[in-house]
Parts: sequence; structure tokens; C-alpha cells
Amino acid sequence: MSAPLIDSFGRRHNNLRISVTDRCNIRCFYCMPATDVVFMDRKELLSFEEIEQFVRLMVPLGVDKLRLTGGEPLVRRDLHVLVERLAAIEGIRDIGLTTNGILLADQAQKLYDAGLRRINISLDALSPEKFKEITRREGFEQVIEGIHAAKAAGFNPVKVNAVSIRNMTEDEIVPFGHFARETGAEVRFIEFMPLDADAKWQRDKVLFAGEIIEILAREIMPLVPVAEQPAGAPASDFMFEDGVGRVGFIASVSQPFCASCNRFRLTADGRLRNCLFSLDETDIRSLLREGAADEAIVEAVRASIGAKKEGHEINTARFIQPDRPMYSIGG
Ligand code: SAM
Ligand code: SF4
Repeated sequence: MSAPLIDSFGRRHNNLRISVTDRCNIRCFYCMPATDVVFMDRKELLSFEEIEQFVRLMVPLGVDKLRLTGGEPLVRRDLHVLVERLAAIEGIRDIGLTTNGILLADQAQKLYDAGLRRINISLDALSPEKFKEITRREGFEQVIEGIHAAKAAGFNPVKVNAVSIRNMTEDEIVPFGHFARETGAEVRFIEFMPLDADAKWQRDKVLFAGEIIEILAREIMPLVPVAEQPAGAPASDFMFEDGVGRVGFIASVSQPFCASCNRFRLTADGRLRNCLFSLDETDIRSLLREGAADEAIVEAVRASIGAKKEGHEINTARFIQPDRPMYSIGG
């Protein structure tokens, strides 16, 4: 293996998140604008061949974990073909997908058969009305069908991601706790982050992990931390004290986990970002399309990782929200 991707704070980067499109079939208010979204032209998107070529270059640098995301990755045609190509790369030991689940019922088995093993389905509410309020679209029943289809296809665990937003998520907490206990799906609450297209995020709109833990303890039963927490994982995972039902927290705002970050990102238009919140990008697509030497591409990646900042600074006055919202970066 060549020298691994270690940044100036000693963090080793083995985890690449790849956005396959910025398009989406819903309009979550914390991510996209309600109307007039301008999507990338299709020829701007990296092809499956280009994505595969890039991943093959990253494996000798220690990248062994991938996650496909977007926009909504299942709107990219034949996504299972990309999964199959990536799963065939020697050295890739883990491929995950984050999806809103709307198109999942039709695709779950194909994706599993192509080699996908981990799936996170985003669902912010168990009430159809609240779902519609958040996503500004119909689709609740399809997501629930998608969750069942994922389980039936063999995905284990199936994780359900819910963004936690003050004055919005509170009524969903206890239903989600029971849902985790009844279905075996792990529910993960993600603190609302300043990556919304409307730039309306404020710290007091975030419902913090600690508050959710207290509500679950009071209304259902106390949670205990799960013993085996993977190194570098952003989530803290808990189990209800009787051992039934898992709940996780991605507390990016109240308990930043930058110190153990092992991730970097490739946007759908081929820009490399060393952090969700980074203000700079590296144009990998031009290098790929100009036929640059492998060494030049690797050097560009090393330079990007080398320039990674220590942390995101959301909790300071210095924080600047990136121009690209979440759907355009790839969450
Ligand atoms: N469309 C897919 C989905 O929703 O799962 C994949 C892309 S989405 C950008 C990835 C994840 O980011 C989702 O779980 C979504 O809820 C989360 N997300 C989007 N905007 C967010 C924000 N401002 N703060 C926290 N999480 C956010
Ligand atoms: Fe689409 Fe996912 Fe963004 Fe919601 S969070 S608008 S589903 S990309």
C-alpha cells in the first residue's frame, strides 16, 4: 500500500462518501429549497466508469469503506450496476447507501444482490402529516414499504435516520423509540446542521441528542451505551436497558466528532471535499477527463486531505456556511 491519507492532525482517511446525483424526488426543508432548484446538467455528473476509476486509485491509499449518497441516489439510473462494479474492487470491504427510501421497494433486492450490505433510510417522522410538512412531498407509505423491502432483501441492520429539529421532532421521539423496539431497525437521530439551502439554520433550531436521551429514558426506559462502537464512527449507539431496541445519535453540533473523522467526499460533479463544511474543493473531474496521470490525481487528493482543518467551528462566530447545501455535497 502507498502512504495512507493522513492529515496534519494525524487522522487517517479510509472512508469515502460518493454522491451520485444532486437530484431528489422530495424537498426536505433542511436540505433543499422549496422551488426553483437548479440541478447539475447530466454531463457534469461523473460516469460510473469515472467513479470506479477514482475508487481504484484510492484503494492503495487505504480507502476500504464507501457510501453512496446524493441528492437521492436511487434516482440515478441503474445504481445497482455501480454497486456491482465497486463491490468487485479488491480492497473495498464495505459499501453503504443513504437513501430517502421512496424508490427502495423496487430496488432493494437488486442492490443487495449487487453487493450492497449497509443501508440507511432517512425518515424524519412516523406521522404522515409531519413527513409531508418536512419533505414538502407525498411518499410516507413508500418509505415504510422501502424499510420492509430492505429487511426482506436481507439488509441487516437497517438504520433509519431522523434529523432532530427543535419544535418539530419532539412528538416523534417516543414513537421512534417504540418503532426501534418493535421493528429491530436502529433509529439514529442526526442533529440539524447548517447545510440547508435556505441558510435559515440557527443553533436554537437544533434538538440536541442529550435532550432526546432524557425523553426516551423518561417515557420508555433508560438507554445504555452499546459496548462495541466502531472507531471513527460519528454515531454514539445506545440500547434500551432491557436489551430491546437500538437508538443512535449523530451529535455533530452538541458533541462534534471532528477529532476522529476519517471521511472525505466526492460530489456528483467530481469535486473532492475534505469536510462537509469545507469552503474549498478539488476538481477531480477535470483531472479524470483530461486523462491526467494517476500520480497527479493521487497528489491532488493528498493535497486536499493535507489541507483539512481541525474541526467545523459550527459553535463559534467564525463559522461560515458553505455555498453548497447538503443535497449538492452529498450527505
Ligand atoms: N437523499 C438521501 C437521504 O435523504 O437519505 C441521501 C442524501 S441526504 C443529503 C443524506 C442525509 O443527510 C439524510 O439522512 C438527511 O436527512 C441528512 N441531512 C440533510 N440535510 C441535513 C441537515 N441540514 N442537517 C442534518 N442532516 C441533514
Ligand atoms: Fe432529498 Fe435527502 Fe435532501 Fe431530503 S435530505 S431533500 S431526501 S437529498
